[in-house]
Amino acid sequence: MINQKYHALLNHADITFEAPASNAAIQVNDAATGDALAWVKTHTQAAVEAAILRSQQAQAAFKKLTTLQRADLLMNWYQLILKNQEDLAQILTAEQGKPLAEARGEIGSAASFIRWFAEQARRVEGDILPSAQAQQRLLVLKQPIGVTAAITPWNFPAAMIARKIAPALAAGCSMLIKPAEQTPLSAYALEVLATQAGLPADVMITLSGDAVAVGKTLCESDVVRKLSFTGSTEVGRILMQQCAPTIKKLSLELGGNAPVIVFDDANIEQAVKGIMASKFRNSGQTCVCANRVYIQAGVYAAVSQRVIEEVNKLKTGDGRVDGVTQGPLIDEEAIAKVQAHIQDAVSQGAKVQAGGQRVAADNTFFEPTVLTDVTQAMRVAREETFGPLAPLFRFETEDEAVFMANDTEFGLAAYIFTQSSARQWRVGEALEYGMVGINTGLISNEVSPFGGIKQSGLGREGSQYGIEDYLEIKYMCLDLSE
Ligand code: ADP
Repeated sequence: MINQKYHALLNHADITFEAPASNAAIQVNDAATGDALAWVKTHTQAAVEAAILRSQQAQAAFKKLTTLQRADLLMNWYQLILKNQEDLAQILTAEQGKPLAEARGEIGSAASFIRWFAEQARRVEGDILPSAQAQQRLLVLKQPIGVTAAITPWNFPAAMIARKIAPALAAGCSMLIKPAEQTPLSAYALEVLATQAGLPADVMITLSGDAVAVGKTLCESDVVRKLSFTGSTEVGRILMQQCAPTIKKLSLELGGNAPVIVFDDANIEQAVKGIMASKFRNSGQTCVCANRVYIQAGVYAAVSQRVIEEVNKLKTGDGRVDGVTQGPLIDEEAIAKVQAHIQDAVSQGAKVQAGGQRVAADNTFFEPTVLTDVTQAMRVAREETFGPLAPLFRFETEDEAVFMANDTEFGLAAYIFTQSSARQWRVGEALEYGMVGINTGLISNEVSPFGGIKQSGLGREGSQYGIEDYLEIKYMCLDLSE
């Protein structure tokens, strides 16, 4: 069971700390030990429909607050999250598994999105357009979309929620949130703090339960005017279809297949640091994790050797133990995918240079792994591994690297390492991706627009653009003739 110390943050009607008599609840497990942490309510269709109506009522009043009032409420929430950073991180690590240092970082990042959009709330501005008719005045207003919904993944149980709900609330929308079934506790803890911060009841409603059932009810509702989803491209497609009848607005942050390109003229240590940060954060379970590492022939041996050395220094284990850098993978399916990618690559000539095995049959830890001599014919070139596997490809020319990097239906994040500023621009512009890291493996922050092109999604989160996803443009035409 989760330590009693954290019960106050999880003091929510949907959570119990003893197995409920009926099976109308989902058990949340400790990611490292498999022990039960708590149980969360399974929201039925009727419960979701009732929540949508409560959200609608709450939004009708919330949109009337001044932007300053909404900004102040968000700032209160931000402060409370920071005040509870350690406890929130402990809850996050318990249910998700990432090392505590990363969990603390994620809570800091979640808070930073709330602060950022508190600041942005006051900068939602309209326009007055010059008219071609002397007697006309043309005005553009930005108004909140209304009731919105979010479906979020387990890999960032706090940050993915914060970067959706913060712009929604800043804009004057309300939000219903369906967290991943593996990690609902962080969502509830954030909601508990939102209430303490003075945010009106029901502007944030967390809806744990069966993903398919809750998702379908949210998507099919006429009242919900927008859905923001982060998760797999496969599920994104289903949700898009389910939202089609009600012509819902959509923000989709879907799968990636991030290339890292290391050129001969790169600073090798910088490149190795970038590869390690991008590949092994959250045990390789982020949508912007390096999935393919392309290294130019002249530095292939040197970079590979340094990556192998660094991977051998990683420590796998329970995220609460000091010095651990790699937590468990989320489930057996995740393990199976990493194994399948390794097996496929090795059967076609790749070599395992580090790791390669699961740690034990009765848990979901996997050794951080490096493969060399990887080619475009292997599954790792086309599919997102979402695990601690670094496949190292070799290339000769810049054109070849750009072609291989773009040869995917995904377009989320890409990374390049080169000291040449001309090449930084040239390759940066040629890559068909929503985000490009140049000489860095870490690109995500609240100030910048996060999102993908092609089948990696629609819309942007964070930045000055992120709030636009929660606003409608209204045009008013005034005729002054009397
Ligand atoms: P992952 O493979 O990272 O778990 P998913 O796309 O399966 O990514 O899950 C992301 C989120 O989508 C989770 O909250 C999950 O519960 C939810 N989800 C999965 N399948 C569906 C579905 N058919 N309808 C609605 N939500 C879903």
